[in-house]
Amino acid sequence: MLQVNEHYLKLQASYLFSDIAKRVAAFQDAHPGREVIKLGIGDVTNPLPPACIEAFHKAVDEMGTVAGFRGYGPEQGYDFLREAIAAHDFRARGALVEADEVFVSDGAKCDTGNIQELFSTGAKIAIPDPVYPVYLDTNVMAGRTGVYRDGRYEGIVYLDSTRANNFVPELPREEVDLIYLCFPNNPTGSTISREQLTTWVDFARDSRALILFDAAYEAFIRDPDLPHSIYEIPGAREVAIEFRSYSKSAGFTGTRCAYTVVPRECTAFDAAGNRQAIHPLWNRRHCTKFNGVSYPVQRAAEAVYSPAGQAQCTALIDGYLHNAGLIRAAMTELGYACVGGDNAPYVWIDGGRDSWGFFDLLLEKAGVVCTPGAGFGRCGQGYIRLSAFNSEANVIRAMERIRQALG
Ligand code: PLP
Repeated sequence: MLQVNEHYLKLQASYLFSDIAKRVAAFQDAHPGREVIKLGIGDVTNPLPPACIEAFHKAVDEMGTVAGFRGYGPEQGYDFLREAIAAHDFRARGALVEADEVFVSDGAKCDTGNIQELFSTGAKIAIPDPVYPVYLDTNVMAGRTGVYRDGRYEGIVYLDSTRANNFVPELPREEVDLIYLCFPNNPTGSTISREQLTTWVDFARDSRALILFDAAYEAFIRDPDLPHSIYEIPGAREVAIEFRSYSKSAGFTGTRCAYTVVPRECTAFDAAGNRQAIHPLWNRRHCTKFNGVSYPVQRAAEAVYSPAGQAQCTALIDGYLHNAGLIRAAMTELGYACVGGDNAPYVWIDGGRDSWGFFDLLLEKAGVVCTPGAGFGRCGQGYIRLSAFNSEANVIRAMERIRQALG
């Protein structure tokens, strides 16, 4: 008799976006003439940069020729892209990353979800709250948690991100093995300073822990003092794996391309207490379970680093950051405490009431859809997330409606 993986049965069904969709549908049924503006889901709305499209087309044409055709590529990614990543995203910022430490993939979601496979079931996991749900759910699936009780899984060390710590969690008081950090943060839009990140790196080094640093929103950083990569911090190469994505930086959510950096110095321990390098383990996993990102997509990603691609991506992100600034200014003017929106596409707003209550209020009074913070963890209760991923015109109209409804 085949048994299912019982750990899957512990998972809480993610009702967040389906609940939002249901409430929006009910509202639209009740008010057929009223247009709804969606500032909820974190998907980009602008088209791909022209430099990427041009490279994409060119690569597709190559695939149609005998000389240019390519079959299976290297699972880790083509050298042209790995070299461009190491040079532009890291060495240009003074962070040492070699091309062969870069693993190109089809998404940071898969990578942040799959990486835990390399570590023992007994590993103690520290996860921020609120958080991008993938980190937590993949550890539940792997059996690293107990049951779900009072809004939390047993066995997880939750790192509270609250107004008291400016949405940057404090170091855990107990021993942990694997630490998830995400900056600029989804959902709060908060950022981490060089000093704070140094504290985390030092903690990981002292306690022989490993940091999984999700920098999917790195391209939104505009403050020159903020670190873009954890490898800008001395000593991080031994204790940190970093995840990046072209989804939000170049509009690749539907095109799919991302990468993970596993430095050669990164280690964990075997049962006998000997250090084992993580790089060969991730390489083995990647090559066994993944067959590479398509050639045209990798060429499109490479075009992000061309002078035209850089200018176009900067303009794309500047547009979203402008929207985020409008959201933050409007909500602040209305008297709500806000975080994010300056180096991130998300604004995290203290609604001063139940998250879903504020969601309903914005929908009914303003016809604007947000994401209730409670959907991202217990510490998200009382907050909502507004996303800058929409047109400027829609954001202006949404804020005007909110002003009229709540002002
Ligand atoms: N990491 C964070 C923090 C995210 O918010 C997202 C997407 O919303 C991802 C990773 C997923 O990125 P990708 O589209 O590369 O899978």
